[in-house]
Amino acid sequence: MDFHLSEEDLDFKQMARELAEKRIYPHALEFDEKGITPPELIKECAELGYFGFTVPEEYGGLGMSATAFMGVLEELCAACAGFGIMLSVHCSLTCEIIKLFGSDELKQKYLPAMAAGEKIGAYCITEPNAGTDIAAIATTAEDKGDHFLLNGTKTFVTNAGFADVLIVFAKTHPEEGRKGLSCFVVDKASEGIMVGAPEKKCGIKASDTREINFSDVKVPKENLLGNLKEGFKMAVVILNSGRIGVSFQAIGIAQAALNEAIKYSKERVQFGQPIANFQAIQFKIAEMATRLDAGRLLAYRASQLKDEGKPCHRESSMSKLFCSQMANFVCNEAVQIHGGYGYIKEYPVERYFRDARVTELYEGTSEAQRMVISRDLLKD
Ligand SMILES: Cc1cc2nc3c(=O)[nH]c(=O)nc-3n(C[C@H](O)[C@H](O)[C@H](O)COP(=O)(O)OP(=O)(O)OC[C@H]3O[C@@H](n4cnc5c(N)ncnc54)[C@H](O)[C@@H]3O)c2cc1C
Repeated sequence: MDFHLSEEDLDFKQMARELAEKRIYPHALEFDEKGITPPELIKECAELGYFGFTVPEEYGGLGMSATAFMGVLEELCAACAGFGIMLSVHCSLTCEIIKLFGSDELKQKYLPAMAAGEKIGAYCITEPNAGTDIAAIATTAEDKGDHFLLNGTKTFVTNAGFADVLIVFAKTHPEEGRKGLSCFVVDKASEGIMVGAPEKKCGIKASDTREINFSDVKVPKENLLGNLKEGFKMAVVILNSGRIGVSFQAIGIAQAALNEAIKYSKERVQFGQPIANFQAIQFKIAEMATRLDAGRLLAYRASQLKDEGKPCHRESSMSKLFCSQMANFVCNEAVQIHGGYGYIKEYPVERYFRDARVTELYEGTSEAQRMVISRDLLKD
């Protein structure tokens, strides 16, 4: 099901599938067990232009649509969801926010190196005491005349270990709640930045997740993104991109799990016949495939609305809510179809099952998506 993917988009998707099948999937269990984001694969993807997929050509990117990028992301996530989310955070959150809200000077300064994969991005909004409630963040950026002084702690930062460019949300006007939030581009090499040890996660272990502490970090005035006090607004806009990205991550994981379940059900013999002959198994596969296609349609709708510059806040939340739940359902059923073997690392559904879990948590939990959707439906 290709929705409205152009020939060019499909070529990119096919190329990504070949890369994923040959270079990523065969090592995905090793990446998972060692908890590594392999630098040589980052380099390979950079050479293919993936790090600047949606960055305009004038800043060194491929200038492709978000929808085309989603095709590539799905394929990478089907092979290794941890590797895929590294790229999604870099492109859909970090490059995207600079592209949408950065001054021309900031775009010139950061986007070419980011598009080339020479500088990797990370997105820092969550704090130990502020997750769903973004307005509660305690990190401050104090105006010191010729620079801002950044203090605070961000947690669960994807790519934190090797990122070079940090997008940091901080309060410039703490007394004004969410209206007092601003957003900055911060060089990770700046003095006063401390990066914690990698978190030991349940899944997507090939992605790097750490805490980052900012202690009297000087941020040049010109590194403010957009205007002062526009941080919350920017976070809301950019979360749409991130949520569409996570939807396609979920789709990639679910597609891989479904493929494995179909294959296994034809191979596994019980009661003298392949288990695929049993209606209980057939109905599971039918249900998994139907939910997967429904998720894909919701996700492509959201990404195409985004590409057309139309509102997609509700649609990206619907897509993220449905696709993440769908991926958890599909992976659970895939494990069930594998019986006890589905619980053993030798079979990739064990990894898909663990990787799918986080899609209901980050870029806003499922509860947060329901809040967005219902608020939009109930507003006057
Ligand atoms: C692997 C991983 C990678 C991540 N990467 C990043 C990253 O790169 N950058 C970044 O900034 N963050 C990142 N995050 C953080 C992630 O976005 C947050 O974990 C998420 O937003 C939830 O916040 P929380 O964990 O503080 O949960 P909480 O907000 O404390 O929520 C706890 C529970 O309460 C529910 N809840 C909260 N408020 C309400 C409400 N009003 N009504 C109903 N239920 C509610 C939630 O849905 C959840 O079930 C990452 C997280 C993980 C696990």
